[in-house]
Amino acid sequence: MAGKIVKLPDSVANQIAAGEVVERPVAVVKELVENSLDAGARSIEIQFEQGGKALVRVLDDGVGMSPEDAAMALQRHATSKIRQVEDILRIGSFGFRGEALPSIASVSRFVLRTRQREASEGTELKVDGGREPVLNACGMSPGTEVIVSHLFHNVPARRKFMKTDRTEAAHILQMCRLLAVAHPEVAFSLIEDGHEVFRTPACPDRLQRVREIFGRRRVEDLLPLEFENDGLQVSGLVGRPGVGRSTRAEMITFVNKRPVDSRLLNYALIESYHRYLPRGRYPMAFLFVDVPDGEVDVNVHPTKREVRFRAEPRIRSAVMSGLTEFLASQSRQSLRQAEPVEPVEKPATPEPPRPSVVPQQPRQPASRTDKFPKALTESFPKAELPSPPARPSPDVWRYCGIFQGRLGLFESPDGLIVVNPVAARERILFEQMSASLKQESIPSQPMLIPPMLELAPLEATLLGDQVDFFASIGFTIEPFGRHLFRIRSIPAWLEAEQAEPFVEELVNRIRERGLRPDDKQPALILVARLAAIRAARGFSPKEQSGWEALVKELLQCENPLLDARGRPTFVEQRNSEINRKLMLQPGRADSDSLDGGA
Ligand code: ADP
Ligand code: MG
Repeated sequence: MAGKIVKLPDSVANQIAAGEVVERPVAVVKELVENSLDAGARSIEIQFEQGGKALVRVLDDGVGMSPEDAAMALQRHATSKIRQVEDILRIGSFGFRGEALPSIASVSRFVLRTRQREASEGTELKVDGGREPVLNACGMSPGTEVIVSHLFHNVPARRKFMKTDRTEAAHILQMCRLLAVAHPEVAFSLIEDGHEVFRTPACPDRLQRVREIFGRRRVEDLLPLEFENDGLQVSGLVGRPGVGRSTRAEMITFVNKRPVDSRLLNYALIESYHRYLPRGRYPMAFLFVDVPDGEVDVNVHPTKREVRFRAEPRIRSAVMSGLTEFLASQSRQSLRQAEPVEPVEKPATPEPPRPSVVPQQPRQPASRTDKFPKALTESFPKAELPSPPARPSPDVWRYCGIFQGRLGLFESPDGLIVVNPVAARERILFEQMSASLKQESIPSQPMLIPPMLELAPLEATLLGDQVDFFASIGFTIEPFGRHLFRIRSIPAWLEAEQAEPFVEELVNRIRERGLRPDDKQPALILVARLAAIRAARGFSPKEQSGWEALVKELLQCENPLLDARGRPTFVEQRNSEINRKLMLQPGRADSDSLDGGA
């Protein structure tokens, strides 16, 4: 009797593989574009119809294939890219499985046209649903064209898994955008249902490419980044400190130029921005991480969207420490930058050119070098920035007035700023207290007539237990019999007459929240909050000098963007945004004149 085990015909094996390699139209697009990139294309045209279900066509001007290679390319596991298993570990090209073309051809009507530069004519291969290829000569310019139509026409089960045209199209658009951003040196065009979605020439750097593809506004909030850390190359564009999004959708990561989903990189980004974004906001990034090929395993999944690093902890800490340092220097710098570049009143004698301590923000990339503009961190020393030249107060933001009866309105050279005074005060106090907690030298003031404080039994026990904590933030409090305490000294920031109510309220809050005495951080946040709220009560909104002093102190903080709880201390409406909304031309005073209009 014949055995039960038979070898699957290639056509069946291909269809099965197709289920993995090309689960949906976007995977076809990705495989074809990666082949074009591997073939050294300088220009790639992508076209698709009906979410890619009806048609995907990719045309490149790469090296092309000989007729023999073209026929081979449709054989399962035929690849020109690796020869042995070890090669997988140092794979420099995108493809290597030799699975894509035969898989795609087995589930579609497939046409491959290809011509090597030196050949006089091209080769055309037609495959219908995995049947034997038909080979013909054809006329064409050098390069390769692949046309995939009627995807899954012979596999109804898979057809059902495709989503609506719009959904599939959205995936294709995003994939093409990311591939284009990863390869600024290659010209790309994308055509959906006969309409051009984008067309971008070769770009000198990624910033320009992102602007071409995602638009000017996306670039406005991004800063170029580049560093090397522990053998790891990190570059790309990341959001300015303080600028976040409500979803993770704009957190885009690449490893060795492949768009990837990497929990590790997402985590590193979110953690690094932790201090610079309010809770619930996510960073924006086009983050490119390049590691030696042996350090990353792209073989985890056939569609290769997930990657696995060999040395995860090392990579995580290298990315995080570099990013954190970058963000710290950026946040200091952007606030310094908020100062008028020119003195408000021009001095009689022109000032000698200022040493370029604070370079102009590279919002518009001035340089057209073929690389990224150098990271800002490199243009000045890592230590604290030298302080800006002294100028009459207010030297940073100009106070304009009160908004909503309680917010401060300021003007900076970059735009309009609305300050929340309570959040600002909270940040200032929080940093002062944290600093004095570290130095153990708390600026404190003795009470002339030490007030007595009587507490309910529970609160009294709690305060008795926490005398040390109170001491660490500047309160000297002595037990004075049953449920009684004497307040001997208080922190410098507290008004004398506030001493009793403040301590009482703080004890109550600590009890309500069940904070433990050694739980310093949350307790400090609480103290800062209470103090800020109290300070705000006495804050006269009409007092210009008070506002100016507040902002000045705020901007000297280590992290002025958020209060201790993670709420923003101010929001900024940038001039570019305002001008855009008002349809004004930037910097043109006469934009309202008749000849300025359309
Ligand atoms: P892989 O990319 O994993 O090698 P594919 O099935 O995607 O496998 O492609 C098979 C082979 O066909 C490739 O190794 C390459 O030699 C050739 N090939 C595919 N697409 C192109 C192209 N656009 N230009 C030149 N050669 C190509
Ligand atoms: Mg391939």
